[in-house]
Amino acid sequence: MEKLRILAESAKYDVSCSSSGTVRSGKKGMVGSTVGGLGICHSFADDGRCIALLKVMLTNYCMYDCAYCINRRSNDIRRSTLSVSELEEITMEFYRRNYIEGLFLSSGVVRNPDYTMERLAAIARDLRTVHRFNGYIHLKSIPGCSQELLNEAGRYADRMSVNIEIPNEESLKMLAPEKDHQSVFQPMRLIQQGVLENKEDRRRMHHVPRFVPAGQSTQMIVGATKETDRDILQMSSALYGQPTMRRVYYSGYVSVNTTDPRLPVLKQPPLVRENRLYQADWLLRFYHFKVDEIVDEKHANLDLEIDPKLAWALRHPEAFPVDINTADYEMLLRVPGLGTKSAWLIINSRRFGRLNSYDLKKMGVVMKKAKYFITCHELTSSPATSLTSVNELSPERLRPLLVSKAQQKRAAEEQQLKLDFG
Ligand code: SF4
Repeated sequence: MEKLRILAESAKYDVSCSSSGTVRSGKKGMVGSTVGGLGICHSFADDGRCIALLKVMLTNYCMYDCAYCINRRSNDIRRSTLSVSELEEITMEFYRRNYIEGLFLSSGVVRNPDYTMERLAAIARDLRTVHRFNGYIHLKSIPGCSQELLNEAGRYADRMSVNIEIPNEESLKMLAPEKDHQSVFQPMRLIQQGVLENKEDRRRMHHVPRFVPAGQSTQMIVGATKETDRDILQMSSALYGQPTMRRVYYSGYVSVNTTDPRLPVLKQPPLVRENRLYQADWLLRFYHFKVDEIVDEKHANLDLEIDPKLAWALRHPEAFPVDINTADYEMLLRVPGLGTKSAWLIINSRRFGRLNSYDLKKMGVVMKKAKYFITCHELTSSPATSLTSVNELSPERLRPLLVSKAQQKRAAEEQQLKLDFG
């Protein structure tokens, strides 16, 4: 339990599993709690199911000294290591007790990358072949390890990931002198190559086991270095261009190193910025936006007060109002307040008649936002309906109407770099 406590604590800063980090203990008369299951976090499957994962490190000893990491060599923390068999046993026992449905395993680098990766691969292999474990396995790949070990691990893991951490190589080298982009991109390329070769093999032969079937993911730290949101999103867009990259995660920098002058001292992680990056990421993946449309040279950072789609709409009033009854799918996706689901519903429903604002509300369109950017049936910007579009109001006057007081306050707080004198 003591080892698990230390190693789960060390693993919690990796955000590839989305919903970890809440603390709400069990209460009398209530069911459930978010504490108690050491190292257990929740993630989401492709079909939207929430699955519990054992999120733990094999060891938190590390020979590297990445300034932004709690497990860096020079940090004075309690260290521990689980043996391969101990980790396998914990996973199986937790699984049998129905605590978890999968394993998310990472590790500090001990001796050399191959030595560490060999152990991670052995755990995945033993779980599958000795213990007949059929649950989800997500392995962190160790930068700099050999191709053979990556191939071995990939045969048994569902997903593998290598963290880029910092989008700019110069900044990465400043904070993590032992790393460079080559050491991160090389394993990414090898995993991709393995997945594509495996696809080809499976086309030609039956019964070829799958290689990393859930693809790759990676993580970038936000707010530890001077990179703008534009730099981060350009990197994400390039990564999504690779056929096996499924998700890029953004992790607001948690101030785990308050004495290093290379790092900012933040009282709290930049959570609003992190959230805006996820929204922008969503626009890249599902809303057909390009990075240059979301952020450009003049607006290199995302607006913290409003979401990136609304920010784009306010910068481009000439594109509105959009007629809901005639616009194509691409244009509907650009209307603030409309999601992918409601855009499809609109396209499908308008074949049976002209849509009005009542229909849109029923489809889940957020009319509070959308009404300034659309026209539909009775909803036209005529004096009779007293509806004013973004053009008539002007973006400058519309913006405060769409930003709540709470949001404004949160964004103002976020922009302050709070010094922690404690
Ligand atoms: S290699 Fe990984 S575990 Fe080690 S210090 Fe760097 S980020 Fe932390």
